[in-house]
Amino acid sequence: MEKLLVKLYEENELSRDEIVHIINEIDAAGKKKLYDLARMKQREYYDDHVYLRGLIEFSNICRRNCLYCGIRRSNRNVERYRLKKSQIVQCCEEGYQLGYRSFVLQSGEDNYYTVHRLTALVEKIRANFPDVAITLSVGERDELTYQKLYDAGADRYLLRHETASRRLYGILHPKASYDERMDCLRVLKRIGYQVGSGFMVGLPKQTAEDLADDLLFLKELNPDMIGIGPFIPHSETPLKFMKGGSLDQTLVMIALARLIVPDSLIPATTAIGSIHPLGRELALNAGANVVMPNLSPMSVRSKYELYDNKICTTDQPDQCYHCMERRIESVGFKVNRGRGDSYRYLTQGKIDVID
Ligand code: SAH
Repeated sequence: MEKLLVKLYEENELSRDEIVHIINEIDAAGKKKLYDLARMKQREYYDDHVYLRGLIEFSNICRRNCLYCGIRRSNRNVERYRLKKSQIVQCCEEGYQLGYRSFVLQSGEDNYYTVHRLTALVEKIRANFPDVAITLSVGERDELTYQKLYDAGADRYLLRHETASRRLYGILHPKASYDERMDCLRVLKRIGYQVGSGFMVGLPKQTAEDLADDLLFLKELNPDMIGIGPFIPHSETPLKFMKGGSLDQTLVMIALARLIVPDSLIPATTAIGSIHPLGRELALNAGANVVMPNLSPMSVRSKYELYDNKICTTDQPDQCYHCMERRIESVGFKVNRGRGDSYRYLTQGKIDVID
């Protein structure tokens, strides 16, 4: 095991069988070694910096019906909300005052937010805060929309591939297409966005082979950001009685992602913080280097419930900011208050195009 981990550290590459072997066979000593190597790799690219992104969940209205997600269309027991442009800009204002220079605007796939409304929103944020990075995470749109949003001033786009298993993808996403989602990711890269993708760990029927494919897919896509979190069942979804992903398996996948796509930005996700009180700190120690504190207005926090027991739904934005700062410093990292661009973007710009 140790030899395999060191080979991965040195070459940033393993075969599918080797990755499956690690996922299935790694023991406590192996995990310690893996996390140490992942942390070393992270430091080679990003030193001891952890980047903050202020997350604004601006609408929980969604046309999709993803089986795992608490804001899926068929859930009638969630109060739906949609923030107005002025409210979103107000969240950014508050975040900017606190020191955030990176905002992530996330929502369900809400058709109210047409290309016109979204471009107007991005233009306004860009005009008010010229030095911030603007990240969108509003799901699958057509190429022209992605292009217009980029031209309006959006820098980054988050769209997790969710699972690289075509079979599992099909089961979990009624009326959605695996190929279309993958195409979206390629289009976003071609346009020049810094792209974030990622997946859930511990989905029902997910195998070690599926998880290895997630990593190999990411290796090929070569995204700037990789979001990995445990699947957590939500009580108002068809998967409510399923078992969720474990802390350990999620940490192993984060560390492997760090070694396989070493220059990527990897968030210590809210989901991992929701299954263990120190989940995010443990993720930072296993190769993650971003945290995304919540900047959404207090009145809507609990309504953006993608899974049960989501944390940080009652803390004010300034509390979240200082709480995260303390947590980051408690594990020996420094808060970086810049835009937090990816290593590849800073060193190569937007030449890394695949088709
Ligand atoms: N509509 C946007 C944003 C989706 S919500 C999009 O399509 O990209 C953000 C992420 O939350 C999803 O990509 C998914 O990976 C995660 N998520 C949703 N439900 C979850 C659950 N029950 N457990 C863990 N993560 C979940």
